Amino acid sequence: MIFVDSHCHIDSEAFDADRDEVIERAREAGVKMMLVVGTGDAADFENFSRVVRLAEKHENIFASIGVHPHDAKTFDAESEQRLIELARSSEKVIAWGEIGLDFYYDHSPPELQKEIFRRQIKIANELNLPIIIHSRDADVETVEILTEECGTENFRGGIMHCFGGTAEMAESLLNVGFIISFAGNVTFKKAENLRDAARIVPLDKLLIETDAPYLAPIPFRGKRNEPMFVIETAKFLADFYGLEVEELAKQTTQNFLDFFRLSLALEKSVNAEK
Ligand SMILES: [Zn+2]
Ligand SMILES: [Zn+2]
Repeated sequence: MIFVDSHCHIDSEAFDADRDEVIERAREAGVKMMLVVGTGDAADFENFSRVVRLAEKHENIFASIGVHPHDAKTFDAESEQRLIELARSSEKVIAWGEIGLDFYYDHSPPELQKEIFRRQIKIANELNLPIIIHSRDADVETVEILTEECGTENFRGGIMHCFGGTAEMAESLLNVGFIISFAGNVTFKKAENLRDAARIVPLDKLLIETDAPYLAPIPFRGKRNEPMFVIETAKFLADFYGLEVEELAKQTTQNFLDFFRLSLALEKSVNAEK
């Protein structure tokens, strides 16, 4: 069985002590690919270059870079230019993000978040990269911006990561061509609303992720999350959809490979193990 962790932050200092072991045990458990997402202060280039270095070092790791809505206030013309150059410098950078809106924390002013969100969708389009979206307490505004900005010819598609909205939001996102990724929080007892959304997501539009080190799924809730635990979310969702876990693994892996056009890369990485 092959799983993909479609969104994690194993560049984070939470993994400084054992990053290589974490990557290795994920691989041994069947998590053969992961997308590591760079976040943080846009003016601190190291936040993003270390993610690209990690992807360059491991065949089965890919990188996404972009400025998180929390850090919208740190985004300026200079950081923009440096990030664009970084994205162009490595074939392992396969997405732009996470970008979006977070009105739960409001670490950056909402209007500025919207402006930087739109700006970064245009950058991704210019680079021909798909986008990874983060949205919290901003369902309406996120859908509004995506509907306006993503219909263009050079839009390469997007992933709504760590889906946290309503079924209605999921429906709107599917309508504008997004695929939807569920994290460990879909396994939480009280997350009935997320499961209502999961119910309407077609299997060929579904991804799974950890968002590690955050949001560990049951039975690891409260602990540091790591890519291997994506298997718990896969088991949970398989059960929810009435599928064998093999089927869910196969479908979500295929969705990831198709979306990023990575089938060859997976073959190479699995063969390298032999
Ligand atoms: Zn996020
Ligand atoms: Zn994230």
